[in-house]
Amino acid sequence: ATLDRIERLNPTINAFLHVDAESALETAREVDEKRARGEKVGRLAGIPIAIKDNLVMRGVPTTCGSMMLDGWLPPYDATVVTKVREAGMPIVGKTNMDEFAMGSSTEHSAFGPTRNPWDTERIPGGSGGGSAAAVAAFMVPLALGSDTGGSIRQPGSVTGTVGAKPTYGAVSRYGLIAMASSLDQVGPVARTVADAAALQEVIGGHDPLDSTSLDAPVPAFEDIVRRVGSDLSGLKVGIVEQMSTDGFEPGVRAEFDAAVRRLEEAGAEIVSVSCASFDYALAAYYLIMPAEVSSNMARFDGMRFGLRVEPEDGPLTAERVMAESRGKGFGAEVKRRIILGTHVLSAGHYDAYYASAQKVRTLVQRDLDAAFAKVDVLVTPTSPTTAFKFGEKVGDPMAMYLNDLATIPANLAGIPGISIPCGLSEGLPVGFQVLAPAHRDDLMYEVAAAVE
Ligand code: GLN
Repeated sequence: ATLDRIERLNPTINAFLHVDAESALETAREVDEKRARGEKVGRLAGIPIAIKDNLVMRGVPTTCGSMMLDGWLPPYDATVVTKVREAGMPIVGKTNMDEFAMGSSTEHSAFGPTRNPWDTERIPGGSGGGSAAAVAAFMVPLALGSDTGGSIRQPGSVTGTVGAKPTYGAVSRYGLIAMASSLDQVGPVARTVADAAALQEVIGGHDPLDSTSLDAPVPAFEDIVRRVGSDLSGLKVGIVEQMSTDGFEPGVRAEFDAAVRRLEEAGAEIVSVSCASFDYALAAYYLIMPAEVSSNMARFDGMRFGLRVEPEDGPLTAERVMAESRGKGFGAEVKRRIILGTHVLSAGHYDAYYASAQKVRTLVQRDLDAAFAKVDVLVTPTSPTTAFKFGEKVGDPMAMYLNDLATIPANLAGIPGISIPCGLSEGLPVGFQVLAPAHRDDLMYEVAAAVE
């Protein structure tokens, strides 16, 4: 049924860049046989899943939405891919994304944008628009995404799906093609909070192949499911002052407020919390992230992976092959960030930009530590607007970057964050974000399950 639906809808939605029906069916058959033999299989065995195209799979095209990697076949599996396979989940394909995960609309994919199933004239969010749209359109029940500044949560918000960014290090990044390594985190895309938690249970846990991986227990799915619809007495919920006024559409604000009232009715105590540094978090992110991007993109030199373009005339030097390949292989947004990143890391500008941004990052962490000393979780709208129309922001990078206002602090601080659907504004989904202290992914899921 999943494969039929993908075949029917993908020509319109363009959520999948690659579909592997054969291998998905083979996994499904293996699970059936195991069950028939009475062997124990995992909770998600047989449940189809889609994988964002920046997670490598051996022998399966992995493009990161870029011409640079067109035709490249990875020689190994990402740890999360291995875990999903071991859980008996049929992998149906790879999902579309903004090039190298840079963007908030999937319009920066070299393979055409993904369309939002709620309104195909609108964006599905980004960078993980493909995974979110695939789940929203009922093409697959689960998908994997990656979140550097909101790329799981903001697409979740505008497509009415659940998207979670775990604590930094809770899920292995081995085999995730790096965007900004200190911010990147792999996480689940699902239709319900319980589904997302079940998937994090599968993909989470320590990985010796990722030096930033945490050796901490994964949140237990059973405990989270038990909380669905439960009483929240004793829970303190903080509304971030800086995320509750300017820049958020009135329709988004109204649905957010209604969800907060539901938390209150469930017994939670609602308080207002100030995180002054959040006013500078977006600016700090758009300096730290490109700095790391400029370094991570250096490996795409036209020699090692994918595209190689030789100069049409003149000498065939390594430098000229690199320049030609990078010039043709990267899109405008990737180039913009490489240039910005190398600029802020250059000797004359390092202190003014990169070092200042790192100081703001510390302030964001301190503000969050102070906030979590007072409250159990923080809540904000996930995204300032509902899904916007294609072309509306693609020519104005600053307008595009503003989408990430509420999602970025979690990446800067490494804390877990989840977006869950909380209502409709003019027929389009609105997302509600729950932020929890580091290592408290369990609490994030429990509160999210109560709002759902
Ligand atoms: N929209 C953000 C950006 O463009 C988020 C990217 C991400 O999380 N991968 O950087």
